[in-house]
Amino acid sequence: MAHKAPGKHERIGLSLVEITRLFPHNEAAEQWLIGIRWSEGITCPHCGPENVQEKSKHPAMPHRCRSCRKFFSVRTRTVMQASNLDYQVWATGIYLFCTSLKSVSSMKLRRDLDITQKSAWHLAHRLHKAFAHEHKHLKRYVSEFAARYNIRELDTLTQLAFVVRSMIGKRLKCRGLIA
Ligand SMILES: [Zn+2]
Repeated sequence: MAHKAPGKHERIGLSLVEITRLFPHNEAAEQWLIGIRWSEGITCPHCGPENVQEKSKHPAMPHRCRSCRKFFSVRTRTVMQASNLDYQVWATGIYLFCTSLKSVSSMKLRRDLDITQKSAWHLAHRLHKAFAHEHKHLKRYVSEFAARYNIRELDTLTQLAFVVRSMIGKRLKCRGLIA
């Protein structure tokens, strides 16, 4: 476990190797996102009730609401909604964002995540928005619960969870995305 960051530009926390073990494939990243978004059970993003059918036959939307009958996924009504990038790319992108003190360029996302420049630009744009939002809450959290807590020492997974929560309900109105 690499708890000591190698340089000033890295935050203390999980290494990239540990992240790849945490999200070895797309399903693992999807389950991680589901666990954060719906920690108390999956609810319909359209109407709310918990009466949800799992493992629907829809290729991209594994959940279906028994009340409003709509299909949905963990992307629905989040900044991920209009994106074709898989969950592993999103999860790793969130990690790259959280662990860089400087902002992450779309060039770096393109290289590190092996995605197109256009996808990288949109991903960076969305993560910037989510992270700016998250940062405000994080500051409040820090001042309320741990007055002398250093943001750099906040556990990486907690930071990632903050970002994921702030991505929910913040779908940007960009059209014509991505592959
Ligand atoms: Zn519903």
